Amino acid sequence: MNTNLQTPIDYLKGVGPNRADLLRTELGIHTYQDLINLFPNRYLDRTQYYKINQLQRNNADVQVIGKITEFKEVAQQQGKRLVATFQDETGVMELVWFRGQKWIRESIKLNTPYVIFGKTNWFNGRFSMPHPEMELLQEHEKNLRSAMQPVYPSTEKLSNKGITNRVISKIMQQLFLETNGRFKETLSENILSELKLISKSEALFNVHFPKNQELLARAQYRLKFEEFFYIQLQLILKNLIHKSKIKGFPFEKVGTYFNTFFNDHLPFELTNAQKRVLKEIRADLGSNAQMNRLLQGDVGSGKTIVALMSMLIALDNGFQACLMAPTEILSVQHYNGLVELCNKLNIRIKLLTGSTKTSERKKIHESLENGELDILIGTHALLENKVKFKNLGLAIIDEQHRFGVEQRSRLWKKNTSPPHVLIMTATPIPRTLAMSVYGDLDISIIDELPPGRKSIKTVHRYDKNRLNVFKFIRDEITKGRQIYIVYPLIQESETMDYKDLMDGYESISRDFPLPDYQISIVHGKMKPADKDYEMQRFIKGETNIMVATTVIEVGVNVPNASVMIIESAERFGLSQLHQLRGRVGRGAEQSYCILMTGHKLSNDSKTRLETMVRTSDGFEIAEVDLRLRGPGDIMGTQQSGILNLKIADIIKDKDILQNARFYAKKILNNDPTLSLSENKTILNTYQELGKFKNIWNYIS
Ligand code: ADP
Ligand code: MG
Repeated sequence: MNTNLQTPIDYLKGVGPNRADLLRTELGIHTYQDLINLFPNRYLDRTQYYKINQLQRNNADVQVIGKITEFKEVAQQQGKRLVATFQDETGVMELVWFRGQKWIRESIKLNTPYVIFGKTNWFNGRFSMPHPEMELLQEHEKNLRSAMQPVYPSTEKLSNKGITNRVISKIMQQLFLETNGRFKETLSENILSELKLISKSEALFNVHFPKNQELLARAQYRLKFEEFFYIQLQLILKNLIHKSKIKGFPFEKVGTYFNTFFNDHLPFELTNAQKRVLKEIRADLGSNAQMNRLLQGDVGSGKTIVALMSMLIALDNGFQACLMAPTEILSVQHYNGLVELCNKLNIRIKLLTGSTKTSERKKIHESLENGELDILIGTHALLENKVKFKNLGLAIIDEQHRFGVEQRSRLWKKNTSPPHVLIMTATPIPRTLAMSVYGDLDISIIDELPPGRKSIKTVHRYDKNRLNVFKFIRDEITKGRQIYIVYPLIQESETMDYKDLMDGYESISRDFPLPDYQISIVHGKMKPADKDYEMQRFIKGETNIMVATTVIEVGVNVPNASVMIIESAERFGLSQLHQLRGRVGRGAEQSYCILMTGHKLSNDSKTRLETMVRTSDGFEIAEVDLRLRGPGDIMGTQQSGILNLKIADIIKDKDILQNARFYAKKILNNDPTLSLSENKTILNTYQELGKFKNIWNYIS
C-alpha cells in the first residue's frame, strides 16, 4: 500500500480546490482517511429493475431501463418545466425537470438506453419521475458500483453546489482506485479469527460498495466493532494507567469501628446488593491503587449506609473521611442520619456548610488539621482552601452530577496523595452509556431495594379531574400523611412558570384553608434562610402540603410524605420525573405519584408518562430516556466521544459495544502494555488514532 491516507483531499482526482473546500467545511473531510470514514446513512436497493408496466403507486424509489424519445417544454405558472417521454418495451412514462433544463437537454442523448432512478408520481394518468438520477446503461454496467446504492450524509450547501450523492460516490470510487482498495488491517489476527470478522479492506469496500445485503451487514459489524473497541481500549487503559500511577492509601484492615458497627449497631440487615457493593469498595480500598468508583443506586436503595461503612474502614486505618452533598438541606440530613447511626461508636463528626458560624468554623478547621475530627460532612464549603485535613483517606460525593469534575479535583488536592473517591448517584445511567462515558471509573450498582418497600402507585390524571385529586389529597392528610405538589420551572419560561406556581399555590390555599391545613412553599427566588425554614417545617411535620418547584428534587427524605403530585408533568424529562417520584415511598405507608397534564400531549410526552406509570425501575426508565433523547442530552456525555461515533450507534448497537468492551478487557488483562507481538497491530492502530485526533476525535 503506497497511498498515504493522510494526503489532503485536494489531491484526489476529481476533487480540486473548490470541492475540497466544500468537503472540508461541510463534512469535515480533510484527508483521504476522512473520506473513507464518511459512512453512508442508508442504502437504496438497486438490485431490482422495474418495467414501466410493473410500477406501483407506492411512491417508492425504483430504477427502470429505457430510452428518451423526445423532450418538450411545458409552460406553467412560473417559468416552464422540461418533460421527457421515456419508454421501455412495456410502456411509456414521463421524466420531469423544473431546474437545470438547459444542461439536461444538452447532455442527455435521445434514443439511447439509460438507467433512471428515483421516486415515481402518478400524474395525469401516467407515471412520472421528477429529477431522476440518470446513467447510460453502458456506463452503468461497467461502473464500480454495487446494487445497494449508498446514500451519504449531505448538506443543502453541498447539493446546491452540485456535490450530489452521485458525485460523492464517484470520488469514493476514485479513492478506491488510487489505493487499489487496500487498507492496512487495524485489528489483530486473533480478534479477526475469533469473531470471524472480515478484513479491513473488505469491510471498507463493502460498506461503500456493498455487493449484497449479507456482505454489507458483515462490513458494518466489523467497522462498528472496531470503533467501539478502540474507545473501550482507551477508557480501560486510562483506568489502568491511573491505577498504576496514582498510589492510594492501602486500607489494609477492617477494624473495630467497622466490626462493632456491623455486629452490634446495624439497624437492619443489608440487602445482597449492598453487601456486594461493599465488597467491591473494600477490595478497592485494600489495594494499592486509588479508588475511583461510581456507586449507582436508585433513590431509596440505601446508598447512605454503604457510604458510612466505607468511611468506617477509613477510620479503622487511621484516616479521616468526608462526605459532600450538593445542598445544605441534604448535608444536614446526612449529618443527622450519620450522627444517629454512629451514636454508640464514639466517632467525632461535624457539619460544615455556608451557614456554619465563624467561631464554629474555626474550631472545625483546627480539629480537622490536628486530627481530632474523624468525619466531616458538608456542602461546597468543604472545598474552600482553608479546609485542610490531617489525613483525608476517603472522599464521598453524593449526587455527583451537581458537582463538576473540576470541583472533584479540588478535593484531591487536599492531600499529598489523593484520597479514595466514591461518587454516589441516584440518576441511573444505562449500562451501555456508562460504559462509554464513565468507562474510566469503576462502577458499582445497587440494583435491589430494601425489603418491605411498597411500590409507589403511579397514575396519570388530566387537569379536569383536579377535584378528585384534591379529594384524594384531603383523605391522605386526614390519615396523617403529607403531600408534595411540584411545578415545573424551566429557565426559558421562568416568569410564566412562577405565575403558574403562584396561581397554583393560591388555589391550593383556597381549597386547603387555614387553620385546618398548613402549607409550605419553596422556590428558587426565596432567600436561602426562608427556603430552609419552610423545608424544615415540612420535614418536622408542621405543614401538610409542600408546594415547590424542582428544588426538592434531590435527596430530601420525609418518610411521612406519601403523595407526590407533579403538575404539567408532560414538561418534565423522564429522569426528573423519576427523581421526583423517589421523594415518596420512603415510609411504611402506601405511596402515590400523580402525574397531572392537560389534554394535548406529544408522542414523546405520552411515552414518558406511560413509562412512569408502567415501571419504577430506574435503569429501565433511563433506557427509555436514552432512546427518547439520544445520548447528547444525558449528563456527562457532552465531553465524551460517543457523540462523534462514525458508524456505530450507542443505542442500536449496544450488543456490539458489549462485545467490544469484553475483548478490550480480555486483551488488556492479558497484556496491559500491549507489548506482545500478537497485539502489535492493536498497539500500532491505537497509537495512530491518538496521533490523528482530527480523524477519530473521540479519542480524547
Ligand atoms: P438513597 O440510596 O436514596 O440515598 P438511603 O440511604 O437514604 O437511600 O436509604 C433509604 C432508606 O432506606 C433509609 O431510610 C434507610 O435507613 C433505609 N434502608 C437502607 N438500607 C436498608 C436495608 N438494607 N433494609 C432496610 N432499610 C434500609
Ligand atoms: Mg441519598
